[in-house]
Amino acid sequence: MSFAGPFDLAVVGAGIVGLAHALAAGRRGKRVVVIDRDATANGASIRNFGFVTVTGQQAGPCWQRAMRSRDIWADIAPKAGIRIEHTGLCVAVRRPAARRVLEAFAATEMGQGCRILESGAAVAKIPSLRSDPLAGALWSPHELRVESRDAIPRLAAWLEETLGVTFLRSTLVKDVRPPMIETTRGTVHADCVVVCPGHDFLTLYPERIAAFGLTTCKLHMMRVRPAVPAPALGAAVMSDLGLVRYLGYAELPEAAVLKQQLLAEQGQHLAHGIHLIAVQSADGSLVVGDSHHYGETVDPFAPSVVDDLILDEFDAVLDMPDRVVSERWTGTYASASDRLMLVDRPSDSVRVVIITSGTGASTSFAIGEEVIADLFSSASQGAKT
Ligand SMILES: Cc1cc2nc3c(=O)[nH]c(=O)nc-3n(C[C@H](O)[C@H](O)[C@H](O)COP(=O)(O)OP(=O)(O)OC[C@H]3O[C@@H](n4cnc5c(N)ncnc54)[C@H](O)[C@@H]3O)c2cc1C
Repeated sequence: MSFAGPFDLAVVGAGIVGLAHALAAGRRGKRVVVIDRDATANGASIRNFGFVTVTGQQAGPCWQRAMRSRDIWADIAPKAGIRIEHTGLCVAVRRPAARRVLEAFAATEMGQGCRILESGAAVAKIPSLRSDPLAGALWSPHELRVESRDAIPRLAAWLEETLGVTFLRSTLVKDVRPPMIETTRGTVHADCVVVCPGHDFLTLYPERIAAFGLTTCKLHMMRVRPAVPAPALGAAVMSDLGLVRYLGYAELPEAAVLKQQLLAEQGQHLAHGIHLIAVQSADGSLVVGDSHHYGETVDPFAPSVVDDLILDEFDAVLDMPDRVVSERWTGTYASASDRLMLVDRPSDSVRVVIITSGTGASTSFAIGEEVIADLFSSASQGAKT
C-alpha cells in the first residue's frame, strides 16, 4: 500500500500527546502523518475529565507547561469548534487543616491570580456547595474544561483540515527506522518520528521504555445527573482529598498535618487513591471521579465499593439530592514513581514521549512544542554532520 508522502514527521498515537506534537509540527509548516491502531480515539485522552488543570500542578516545569498548554487550548478551541464547558476551579474544603494548605498555596508564586473565599462567598459562586461544614475555598481562574470525547476527535479533524495533517487509523506501527516506518498497512516514509504510545510499553522500543520502570494506573469515573435541575457549577470542584494528591499542594509542609488527619478520618478513600474532581457538561450532567489503582497489568474490574467512596466524597461536598449515576467507565494511564513525564531519544530523529502521571490533558501542548523544537533542530544538525 502507498500513502501520500513522504512526511517530515510521523507521530505514533492519536491521543492528546500525539495530537499536541502534530499541532506543534504542523504550525512549523511540517508535513505530518499521525498513525493510530484504533479506528477512533479510545485511550486515556477521551476517558479523562477534560480538565486542563493549572493550580495544583507540581511547582516548576509542570505548572509552567500547564499554563502554556491552557493558553494553547484557549486559542485553538474556538477555531476547532471545541466548546469550553467552564473555566476556573473551586477547591472547597471542610477542615481547618485543609484551609491552611490553601492559604499556604495562595502565598506561593503559583497562587498568583487565586484567592481564598470564605464559605459564604464560595457558596455564592457555586450554589450547590454544601455550606456546612465548609472551612473556605480556593478560587483559581486558570483552568478550563473541555468534553474530551468530543474535543479529541474535533481537534484531530481540525488538524487535518487546517494544517493538512494526514491520519492513518486502524494501523499499528510495528517498527520505527526513519525514514521507514513499518505498519500493518505497509511502509510509511518520514524523516522524523515521535512515538506517543500512552500505556503501551511493549510494541515499540520495549527495552528502552522498560528502563524507566513504568507501571500503569487504573481510574474509576462516573457521569452523575442531578435529579432536579440544579444551578450550573460554572467551574471545576475539588475537595480536601485533592490536597494530598496534587503535588502543587501536597509538597507544601502544611499538607503533612492534613494527610495525618485524612488517614485517620478517610483512610479508605486514601487506600483507593480517591480524591474528588467534579466537572460539568453542556447538558448539566457531571463527570465525577476518581480513584487510583496501580499495577503492571491492571485488572478490568470496577468494584462498586470504589464508586461508593467517590460518591460519598461527592455528597460531602455538593448538595444534589437523588443524583443518578448514568454512566461508569475506567481509564488507564502510564505511571512512574519518579517523574511526571519522559522524553526518550533513541536517535537524533526519534523521540518517545510518555506522560507518566494524570497530567496529559493539562501539559501536552507545551511538551509538544518543546519536543518538536528540539527534534527538528537536532535532526537538522545530524543531517549536516
Ligand atoms: C480517567 C482519567 C482521568 C484523567 N484526568 C485528567 C485530567 O483531569 N487532567 C489531565 O491533565 N489529565 C488527565 N488524565 C491523564 C491524561 O488523560 C493522559 O495523561 C493523556 O490522555 C495521555 O495521552 P496519550 O496520548 O499519551 O495516551 P492515549 O490517549 O492513551 O493515546 C495513546 C494512543 O497511542 C496508540 N498507540 C499506542 N501504540 C501504538 C502503535 N504501536 N501503533 C499505533 N498506535 C499506537 C493507542 O491506540 C492510543 O490511541 C486522566 C486520565 C484518565 C485515564
